[in-house]
Amino acid sequence: MIRADTIVTDIGELATLARGPVPRIGKAADDLGVLTDAALAVAEGRFAWVGRERTLSTAVRLRPGGRRLSAGGGVVVPGFVDAHTHVLFAGDRAFELPLKVRGMGYAEIARAGGGLFATVRATRKATDEALLAATAARLLRMGSWGTASVEVKSGYALTVEGELRLLRLIPRLARRTGLRLVPTFLGAHAVAPEYRTRPDAYVDLLVKDALPRVAKQGLARFCDVFCEPGFFSVRQSERLLRAALALGLGVKIHAEEFILSGGARLASRLHAVSADHLLAARAEDRELLAKSGVTAVLLPITALTASPGVRSPGREMVDAGVPVALGTDCSPNSWVEAMPLVLAHAVHAARLTPAEALTAATVNAAHAVGLEDAGMVAAGRPADFTVFPVRSVDQLGYRFDVIPALVFRQGNPISPPTLRQYF
Ligand code: ZN
Repeated sequence: MIRADTIVTDIGELATLARGPVPRIGKAADDLGVLTDAALAVAEGRFAWVGRERTLSTAVRLRPGGRRLSAGGGVVVPGFVDAHTHVLFAGDRAFELPLKVRGMGYAEIARAGGGLFATVRATRKATDEALLAATAARLLRMGSWGTASVEVKSGYALTVEGELRLLRLIPRLARRTGLRLVPTFLGAHAVAPEYRTRPDAYVDLLVKDALPRVAKQGLARFCDVFCEPGFFSVRQSERLLRAALALGLGVKIHAEEFILSGGARLASRLHAVSADHLLAARAEDRELLAKSGVTAVLLPITALTASPGVRSPGREMVDAGVPVALGTDCSPNSWVEAMPLVLAHAVHAARLTPAEALTAATVNAAHAVGLEDAGMVAAGRPADFTVFPVRSVDQLGYRFDVIPALVFRQGNPISPPTLRQYF
């Protein structure tokens, strides 16, 4: 008999995501492993039992003082994994939007004091506590939307000491928010303004000074690079990522966001864990990603905000046999925290089925950030899950704005952020 701390009953549909090998590709991405009339039990922060409610009483007993909750006939899904964020920054860039919608270009906005370097200036100036408070607020709101794990990139300092400082804040943010955070070194987010005319010297600095310290101090799990004309060339990206691989880090690439950059091809050559964005990827790139097993991390809301009129190639990637994962890409340029909204855009704009979108936001996203035990509801896994007040799993992605009814982190319900934590 299993002794549980928490039992949840009256689950209309439970998407376990627990069937088959990870990541899910092709038809398997459409199979959520749904149990109907289900219940689950949690012990010591992990799922202890998952099954049909009518068999619960023969398998599980609640510990004295344990908690028994009803899901009210709603849906349970695994805690979302947000596979790509730039959530660690200071300030905001709301003032740019009226300029952008009137047609002002990137260079003009930069001259008007905006763009990525505006965030770099604000982040360099911010104290640790200011960065922690602003980022923790964003992460807590992400959590209240059902996100349990978040990949967090550095990249708004663009100095060695500054980037290391950002990475050191990530474990503190994890403790403050209760979320699982995966740190990624993105010193190559852009060439630092001080190196504007000497980009190779900046790559040198990252390879010879920053990366060895990041690896030695265990500050990041992945190294990422913005491989795009005007940022880092394929040659520079390859140099940086090969250095990261040699130091034992996993690698990721911002690839083909605005134009064909060769990033997807490079990701495939290096067997990167993921290639992200991919708005301009061609059929050959999809074939290469499929063949080398690189996960495509798609960011459908950034397609909307940064490349209006271009849609994220969800359908094409799944049909080509590429594993697909999703992220918010939360940044001052494209500020979204809610994974349910990302799911809806993945369905309505990127043309994934609701089931494929949920797979991409859970088990495949967990794979894309190296959290092999996340994104599933199965005995032995961390008990991160969300109850949505809808009758069937396919309502997620179909509807844009379903708000979670209950969010559990390691077996405990979380309370919504307080007003003070909201800002
Ligand atoms: Zn990004």
